[in-house]
Amino acid sequence: MNYAEFYKQSVEDPQTFWAKQAELIDWHQPYTQVLDYSNPPFARWFVDGQTNLCFNAVDRWVDKQGDQPALITVSTETNTEKVYSFRELQREVQRMAAVMQSLGVGKGDRVLIYMPMIAEAAFAMLACARIGAIHSVVFGGFASNSLATRITDARPTLIISVDAGSRGGKRVPYKPLLDAAIAMSPHKPQRVLLVDRGLVAMDWVAGRDVDYAAARGQNMEAHVPVTWLESNEASYILYTSGTTGHPKGVQRDVGGYAVALASSMQHIYCGRAGETYFSTSDIGWVVGHSYIVYGPLIAGMATIMYEGLPVAPDAGIWWSIVEKYKVTRMFTAPTAVRVLKKYPTEFMHQYDLSSLKTLYLAGEPLDETTSHWISSELGVPVIDNYWQTETGWPILTIAKGVEDLPTKLGSPGIPVYGYKIKILNETSGEICGANEKGVVVIEGPLPPGCMQTVYGDDSRFVKTYWNNFRTEQVYSTFDWGIRDADGYYFILGRTDDVINVAGHRLGTREIEESISSHGNVAEVAVVGVEDKLKGQVAVAFVILKNANPVATAEGKLAMEKEIMAVVDKHLGALARPARVHFVALLPKTRSGKLLRRSLQAICEGRDPGELTTIEDPASLDQIRAVLQG
Ligand code: AMP
Repeated sequence: MNYAEFYKQSVEDPQTFWAKQAELIDWHQPYTQVLDYSNPPFARWFVDGQTNLCFNAVDRWVDKQGDQPALITVSTETNTEKVYSFRELQREVQRMAAVMQSLGVGKGDRVLIYMPMIAEAAFAMLACARIGAIHSVVFGGFASNSLATRITDARPTLIISVDAGSRGGKRVPYKPLLDAAIAMSPHKPQRVLLVDRGLVAMDWVAGRDVDYAAARGQNMEAHVPVTWLESNEASYILYTSGTTGHPKGVQRDVGGYAVALASSMQHIYCGRAGETYFSTSDIGWVVGHSYIVYGPLIAGMATIMYEGLPVAPDAGIWWSIVEKYKVTRMFTAPTAVRVLKKYPTEFMHQYDLSSLKTLYLAGEPLDETTSHWISSELGVPVIDNYWQTETGWPILTIAKGVEDLPTKLGSPGIPVYGYKIKILNETSGEICGANEKGVVVIEGPLPPGCMQTVYGDDSRFVKTYWNNFRTEQVYSTFDWGIRDADGYYFILGRTDDVINVAGHRLGTREIEESISSHGNVAEVAVVGVEDKLKGQVAVAFVILKNANPVATAEGKLAMEKEIMAVVDKHLGALARPARVHFVALLPKTRSGKLLRRSLQAICEGRDPGELTTIEDPASLDQIRAVLQG
């Protein structure tokens, strides 16, 4: 079947199409209905079917290939490397599951996982899936405030964490940030399970904190049966930034997600059982959920978890991993490739990379220079994927496993099967013609694997994503895009106040709220500004209550550092603005709305656009002046 026919069936006859894809996973009890869309926009896939993510990722492979590698952990931070077979992984997951149960975790309970890229993090996720607990992984680079917001919203029974992570040889303590977050949150987890890596000393809270090594030691022979879940029960929550200061908990199901991943592993990533998949992302992001932990394992592949920098001990580290473990499919972000491009290509060419078949890039726009460079150096095709935390798997790409259609530079490709995509005019809601810019939207029902709802807030799900056009109820991606005459899509950036730094989504509101907490800040605006390496960086413009401290150049520098430190403490270094500028005025409309797009345009040296509503044109001159200064 060619791709056009495959796609057509997926959207015109989703029942037949997805029933076929559902054969790729194991079911404990068959579903009675492929899709229930009686309450749009809430889609329920594989109704009444019973399955389990952990069973599909681990147990079902134990009989077939129990001694084959399943999880490979490589840390250049602690100089450790370990290969777990499917059988060993099953044992470790059961030990972790038994410990969790002994700490009172049961089906439907939330477990917050705040951990670096170590094996126990994957054990914890899979153990939750095994016993029907809902995991909420928080990226290790986030600091106390970000963590506290997520604790408050998810109300976890248990938090699993570590003494420390490590970055570039520097130990990054996790426990003090976690303790501060728990102190800040009105919700107090009953227990905190800690993996002591021996990197830094920890202050243990008696009666609450539990040492994982000791607890595991008491559960070495644990046999924890799989808890079968109805396909539409929740598997996990993953928080993502939006336009408000409060991240949304993207909630995913069990059966639809397992089917979407199994299907994408075959049709998009062309992965085969027994091969090795290497995604350089982090378990704190959606890629880490879908294509480090669940996707590759569901496909019977070995998956690599890498802790460390892409350039340490040198810029050849990833390629040495590809050679050693005969990686066939690799997944990374354009920013990482731009970092590697700065180093001599010998770092890559000293290794035998003949196992590698395809490189997948996602998370941010892929520029032509980066794409050309990596593709010609590696001598393999580079496939761009466009997707979001919300969708859990690609929306636009070239599904090479179905048909090897040509790629177009600058375009992630064409709609992935299951997704009915349109480009709508932002104001009229009408469909845009070829090459006409509009908002990328998806018609309901969203395919399997996509978010079910916002955790604990169905109305926010509908209001945020589905009510943006008067004309029809469609899911908004909040991305600008165009579709060319051949049906290829091009993504042109976000329509909202979300920015993308090195492939990671950040809400400018969150950063503004953090900066506002500084005692001398009267007003602040944060915008995303184009950056050669990271795609975008955050830049802050601040009006101080008392501007005396920034009267001198040294004073400005000191205040800039102080403000950056506030963001580091609240949200983590990832959200730290690249620059903090001090101004006396911010560009606003007469009704007081910040002119973000104009501010951003000036930062990028572009025309600020339509300014008839601006309150004080002098505000823009001031911005230009500080940028030049
Ligand atoms: P996140 O949910 O953090 O993965 O961020 C999703 C957002 O990243 C999308 O809405 C896009 O703005 C951007 N994005 C992801 N992948 C791509 C891509 N391949 N090309 C362009 N933008 C992308």
